[in-house]
Amino acid sequence: MTETNPLQIPLDTLSDISAARLELLERLGLRNVGDLLFHFPRAYEDLSDVRSIATLSADGIQTVQGEVVEIEGRSLSDGRKVVSVVLSDDGKNCLEGVWFNQPFAAKRFRYGQRLSFSGKPKWFRDHWQMSNPRVQILASPSSPPQGGGMRGGGPEVVPVYPLTEDLRPEQLRSLLRKMIDRYASRLTDVLPITLRQKHDWPTCDQALRDVHFPPTLSAATRGRRRFVYEEFLILQLALALRRREVREEGRAPILTTTPAIDARIRRLFPFSLTADQDRAVAEICRDLASDKPMQRLLQADVGAGKTAVAVYALLVTVANKHQAALMAPTEVLAQQHARTLDRYLAHSRVRRLLLTGALTPAQRRDALAALAVGDIDLVIGTQALVQENVRFARLGLVVIDEQHKFGVHQRARFRRAGSVSDGGQSVAYASGSSVPHYLVLTATPIPRTVALTVFGDLDVSIIRQLPPGRQPVTTRWEPTSQRPRVYARLREVLAQGKQGYIVCPLVEESATLDVKAATQTYAELCAGPFRDLRIGLLHGRQDEETKAAVMDRFRRHELDLLVCTSVVEVGVDVPNATLMVIEHAERFGLSQLHQLRGRISRGPTAGLCFLFAEPSSEEARRRLRAFLRTTDGFALAEEDMKLRGTGEFFGARQHGLGELRLGSLIADADLLRTARKDAFALVADDPGLRRPEHALLRAAVLERYGKTLDLAEIG
Ligand code: ADP
Ligand code: MG
Repeated sequence: MTETNPLQIPLDTLSDISAARLELLERLGLRNVGDLLFHFPRAYEDLSDVRSIATLSADGIQTVQGEVVEIEGRSLSDGRKVVSVVLSDDGKNCLEGVWFNQPFAAKRFRYGQRLSFSGKPKWFRDHWQMSNPRVQILASPSSPPQGGGMRGGGPEVVPVYPLTEDLRPEQLRSLLRKMIDRYASRLTDVLPITLRQKHDWPTCDQALRDVHFPPTLSAATRGRRRFVYEEFLILQLALALRRREVREEGRAPILTTTPAIDARIRRLFPFSLTADQDRAVAEICRDLASDKPMQRLLQADVGAGKTAVAVYALLVTVANKHQAALMAPTEVLAQQHARTLDRYLAHSRVRRLLLTGALTPAQRRDALAALAVGDIDLVIGTQALVQENVRFARLGLVVIDEQHKFGVHQRARFRRAGSVSDGGQSVAYASGSSVPHYLVLTATPIPRTVALTVFGDLDVSIIRQLPPGRQPVTTRWEPTSQRPRVYARLREVLAQGKQGYIVCPLVEESATLDVKAATQTYAELCAGPFRDLRIGLLHGRQDEETKAAVMDRFRRHELDLLVCTSVVEVGVDVPNATLMVIEHAERFGLSQLHQLRGRISRGPTAGLCFLFAEPSSEEARRRLRAFLRTTDGFALAEEDMKLRGTGEFFGARQHGLGELRLGSLIADADLLRTARKDAFALVADDPGLRRPEHALLRAAVLERYGKTLDLAEIG
């Protein structure tokens, strides 16, 4: 058992790989045996469709077996050289294989030799032709057939590897063949036998053979899926362990929702909750009533009413004589939340505090003192709330709004730094070992499979349905030539007392250019077409005070139009604003467009959204068409993921989990769900993965995620 893991053996210590080949492998990032064995094909060519030449057709890859009846080299009029090899399988019908500018190609062939050609047949003048067919030598004494899954001498399913540069596919295959024969049987299977049997997975050894030398296409697929499952299982185990660790870290206060409390809270809302809101409330109340700290993500489409649900949770906490904190990403949003709460709590005795940069040092000192002795029930602020030395008397719940930019990795870091809910230096709790419950809100719908990874350590509640009475937003994509007509329409709506946003293009290179674009548009509109209207400017480079002042004027309807950069995307809520123009809409991502449009779907009046866009790529066109087609944020998120791939969501930058090596959150979604179920069951059953049969899994999880997810306890 102490022998080195064969996967770790560096390729340059193997005597049978030449220096030149090593360099080619190195360029593909293949340095050790493991890299090579897990350098998986990106596709397979199915050559099992063997035809007689007489029955060839012009669709798809087909294979023909025959005898060489002619070999010829010639030059075309354009100077290209062609090698032509003609096969016949009945002495009558002929198939010509042609190779361009590969004079050496002819050297491989002899008259009378039995070959198979695989490729797409094309009818050329009076016979079938294949260019660059894949060749198998069927009966040649000097080259015995090799490899698994042969019939008539050649494999029927041929793997196609990712770009191999100058390494020829045959060379890669023969190297893989050697490595598999030498090492595959020595690999230890990370998957415990129970899970292997449950899903009927092949062994690691067998699966590797099936991936690289598949007897059939379905064996190749199964081999690959086995490893994808393993990759997902390790990820989900890490998340399950992380979640468990947080839940075991301390005891949270038990906050119960009695019927009396429930009735009192509901009376504060001027509406009844939707079914989706009710479900989210029930899930949250169940969590709060347990001494395991809640770790929940509340995902809602824009305007679906997650704030109301969060308010419910805050009030349950206060009703249970604990303090609650609501944190927003910016001052503007903190103030907006404070106003919302003022509205809901106008007739309640809840003692509230808005902790902002606007407080004088003396006010701030008093406020912090009141928090520390428990004279404040509910505090609203920005992230600064936890980064500074804020003490609570008995903090029961932390609600963090708009945290979609933070993945599991950042949350792990937060806690490590002692900043949120772990009783560390920054936030201290008089009540000792008690830790607060934790609710994360996000208004960015994310595809389910992404939620299961990036937020995979949290429980998830989803509000999809919009409150009743919402009018749909009409979205129009206009050519720039229609600008005068669009502006005229804008004027009409503004004249009816409504307000609108002009969103300026995102400039990818720099935020400074965003600002420039907005400032310029602002100046142009003020000077020209909207000279007589009240126009404001909002962008990311303004200081918080200026931004808040502009938003205030817009909210009080002292401004008709707000020219802005995408800063308005996050959470800004002015129900009277029902118009939006998005300039250069092709530069925005789908979810960002959705967030922007969400700003004008907040009232009882139907919104109107105009896009000016000149997409230069098919992807951008598809994105815009999807945006015109639906307003369902979850549908758009799925579409966005398909268009852009999962990289955007699953980039290391966002969540720190690193890339998936084999699996795809789109194509392998079923395996992700299966692996998650298995992983969480496994951790429930064997919390530290201490059992001997889980030792290898545990080592694999720690190696891959131990550091990033701070999996201290099992380490
Ligand atoms: P979100 O935070 O998810 O964007 P909000 O909680 O801010 O959504 O709600 C958006 C608007 O819908 C608010 O004006 C709110 O008063 C209203 N609203 C929320 N829930 C309901 C409901 N169940 N019925 C009617 N209106 C609602
Ligand atoms: Mg909101």
